[in-house]
Amino acid sequence: MERFKILISEKEIKKRVKGLAAEINRDFKNKHLYIIGILNGCYMFISDLTKELKMPITVDFMRVSSYGNATETSGVVRIIMDVSESLSGKNVLIVEDIIDTGLTMDYLIRTIKQKNPKTIKVCTLLHKKIKTRVNIKIDYCGFEIPDKFVVGYGLDLNNMYRNLKYIGYK
Ligand code: 5GP
Repeated sequence: MERFKILISEKEIKKRVKGLAAEINRDFKNKHLYIIGILNGCYMFISDLTKELKMPITVDFMRVSSYGNATETSGVVRIIMDVSESLSGKNVLIVEDIIDTGLTMDYLIRTIKQKNPKTIKVCTLLHKKIKTRVNIKIDYCGFEIPDKFVVGYGLDLNNMYRNLKYIGYK
């Protein structure tokens, strides 16, 4: 397997995911959370995160595609797979692997708002803050990272390297 430089180690990820779960546990103590993971990149993060949550939760997924090339989104987003239940009156937590320009998350928030949830919170493992072009309130952020294309821990390059235990870059 190709070697990448380590940006965030397995140990650092584990520690931070526990920290994020503690923040969510504190904010939503005894409240039901409807968690929406954004496929495919979220799968490893959502698995580790939800294992640490103590409130009653429902886990659902959405899949979106954004037109663009392998490493840059165009901002035109399309829903490939939608949530499976009504979100009306629910506390929704969107779980994403990475927010880059923010266009995907902005679209997701606007789309989910139309389903009348009680609250919407955003949790992302990674945030490329310097590249974010839209104003999004990120409630739970794992790491702010520099403008590098990263892979591993669910994130891909041409659908590969998702299984790396660390976040790496070339
Ligand atoms: P945004 O709409 O915020 O620009 O981009 C969001 C999507 O672009 C993410 O969900 C992810 O699929 C992809 N993306 C952005 N930056 C990276 C990166 O550094 N690595 C990988 N693997 N995907 C990225």
